[in-house]
Amino acid sequence: MLTTNFSQLNLSKEFLKNLDSLSYKELTPIQGLSLPLSLQNSDLIAQAKTGSGKTVAFSIPVVNKLNVKDFKIQSLILAPTRELANQIAQELRKLSRHIHNVKILTLCGGMPFKPQALSLYHGAHIVVGTPGRILKHIQQENISLNTISTLVLDEADKMLDMGFYDDIMQIIDSLPKHRQTLLFSATYEKNIENLASNIMINPEFVKIENEEKTSINQEFYQVEESEKTALIPALISSNKAKSILIFCNMKITCDKLADDLYDLGLDVLTLHSDLEQKQRDETIVLFSNKSYPILIATDVASRGLHIDDVDLVINYDLSLDEKIHTHRIGRTARAGKGGLAVSLCTQNDEERVEVIKEKFTDIKEKNISELEDDLSYKIDSDLRTIFINGGKKHKLRAGDILGALTAGIGLNKEDIGKIDILDFCSYVAINKEKIEYVLDKLSKSKIKGKYYRIYEK
Ligand code: ADP
Ligand code: MG
Repeated sequence: MLTTNFSQLNLSKEFLKNLDSLSYKELTPIQGLSLPLSLQNSDLIAQAKTGSGKTVAFSIPVVNKLNVKDFKIQSLILAPTRELANQIAQELRKLSRHIHNVKILTLCGGMPFKPQALSLYHGAHIVVGTPGRILKHIQQENISLNTISTLVLDEADKMLDMGFYDDIMQIIDSLPKHRQTLLFSATYEKNIENLASNIMINPEFVKIENEEKTSINQEFYQVEESEKTALIPALISSNKAKSILIFCNMKITCDKLADDLYDLGLDVLTLHSDLEQKQRDETIVLFSNKSYPILIATDVASRGLHIDDVDLVINYDLSLDEKIHTHRIGRTARAGKGGLAVSLCTQNDEERVEVIKEKFTDIKEKNISELEDDLSYKIDSDLRTIFINGGKKHKLRAGDILGALTAGIGLNKEDIGKIDILDFCSYVAINKEKIEYVLDKLSKSKIKGKYYRIYEK
């Protein structure tokens, strides 16, 4: 069973209280897998991507084991860079707040050497540092590591990439053989396996699979505000998109864009909170049954919508935060299908662009000059929608409507698309070639024994 709560771990009350005060309420997955083992003093290799909480994962056993009264170096943590070593030291300080007088020392290259030697002379419980500098202190006999009971290698993959293998092996030569070794890494390749087999004893191995890469391709275009609207037809045609969801940050932008696109010959639907619920429901039906290919929406109005199969999401305005961005682009590439999300970014968006780029590392930056407007491409749907003024409250079911259309008026099943039955009305997507026929015939025939009014939407 996966451990999810810190209270499931065998930690002191004070430690748990401290964790709680740090707002660490639940274990991250890699913590859940590794802590039950590392707290048992096992050697451990843990692999998980950046940001998965590895620092806390190795710091908890280090702090848990700490005997503050024994003023000797008990744990050594090696990290590839000074910045990372400082972050780790900071985390360790937070995690050991419930213990008094814990001395944590960072020893990194690029910092004055002599003061480090002096600090070492004064002693420490935990040393965090970069391999080169620690080795130098060993060689100059400033540091004695024979009291170490825990060795941590953080970002082991990076340390090896940076050529620290020999330094690490030399450092380990001066450590006690009997110790716990924890190795954390974002990747696990042959070189790490080699290192591990040389420095660990029967290590446990835990791994959190990187989430599947989304199949959403993202493109960012740097544009002027005034260029945005004219780009929409080009984006649609160059991608041969059939179902397009366009996000704006404000209702007024939605309406303006809808007008402007209409002038450019595109028939669009809009969805925002000024519209009545009935209109909104209808809009969603018409877009999701594919009788209208373009929907312009605000975030509020589109929250919680189930619209699948959108093949192009356009962020006409870049979203105000990265979570909304994630939400928006998730509308494409549903069910494993590849999709494209295009964001139009102006100079004002610069900061937000940076934040988003940090999260999604595979964003392609494109130039509008690369856009090839395919003039032969006509965006139009093969389907139209008929409205029937009867729904669930009239006990109509999809089968009744299907029957009236096929057995009743002789339509082929292939000419019928999605059927949506709402409380008081229903919508049926129909091949547009057959729409006149259906309007004429269906209004003259009964559905489940009754006549209904039929319109085109
Ligand atoms: P990694 O080393 O895997 O890249 P970090 O250790 O830097 O990730 O952790 C990323 C962030 O997650 C940090 O800000 C850290 O404070 C936070 N964090 C770690 N563990 C937890 C937890 N159990 N609950 C909430 N936040 C956590
Ligand atoms: Mg880390």
